[in-house]
Amino acid sequence: MLANLPSDESTVNYQMVLGDQQVAMNPLIGESITLVYAGEIHCQNCQRLTKKSYSGGFCFPCSQKLAQCDLCFMKPETCHYAHGTCREPEWGVQVCMQDHIVYLANSSGIKVGITRISQMPTRWLDQGATQALPIFRVSSRYHSGLLEVMFKNHVSDRTDWRKMLRGPAEKIDLLEQRNQLQAECADEIKLLQEKLGENAITPLTDEQTLEINYPVQQYPQKVSSMNFDKTPEITGKLLGIKGQYLIMDKGVLNIRKFNGYQITMKA
Ligand SMILES: [Zn+2]
Repeated sequence: MLANLPSDESTVNYQMVLGDQQVAMNPLIGESITLVYAGEIHCQNCQRLTKKSYSGGFCFPCSQKLAQCDLCFMKPETCHYAHGTCREPEWGVQVCMQDHIVYLANSSGIKVGITRISQMPTRWLDQGATQALPIFRVSSRYHSGLLEVMFKNHVSDRTDWRKMLRGPAEKIDLLEQRNQLQAECADEIKLLQEKLGENAITPLTDEQTLEINYPVQQYPQKVSSMNFDKTPEITGKLLGIKGQYLIMDKGVLNIRKFNGYQITMKA
């Protein structure tokens, strides 16, 4: 599911990708929809049929050879590009050896995260964040991982998705939180800068907090998750969309989890 934030408003716009088609989802909120999984999963990389989805939408061989499926992509502090063992060094140069942003966001409470510059604000929309603030610019994914590890001692790096889906997050003064974090970690950051070079880590002090609204008509009382593997046909009233979740009257559906699943939709 694609999410974008139109420049003239602050409510996220969603499109569901179904084969070659993109279906605008916001107009369907309040309507009854049916999603049917026909039992076919195609690898997001080689398009081959796969019985099971690995690493979020790939066939088993691709999950073993793609750099984006390597553990270091989820844990950038373990990047091994410098050791010459990156699974796909050229891809690594394009994706990981680029400037990254370390940010504070509020999805179910405050959290720290990292993203490529080109993935802003998509990354935040995918997490269901209602506020986001870039706090550091760093020169590689590895460096962003080092900072994130440092900040984990001060701020969570998780989203509580149930809480995120139960209602809007309480507002947080992210600017104040940033100042506090930058102050608390000043000595550690200085040490890292000495080690990695002055330009590797740049604190951002002029950024503004981005406020994000989601098209949600009604939040669920109880958050129960639905699953195409258990229920190939899901029908219900679409109450809203937040992050990568469709909020329906019968439960929530994490669309991201079913990357590569061949789905048809009736509205
Ligand atoms: Zn594949």
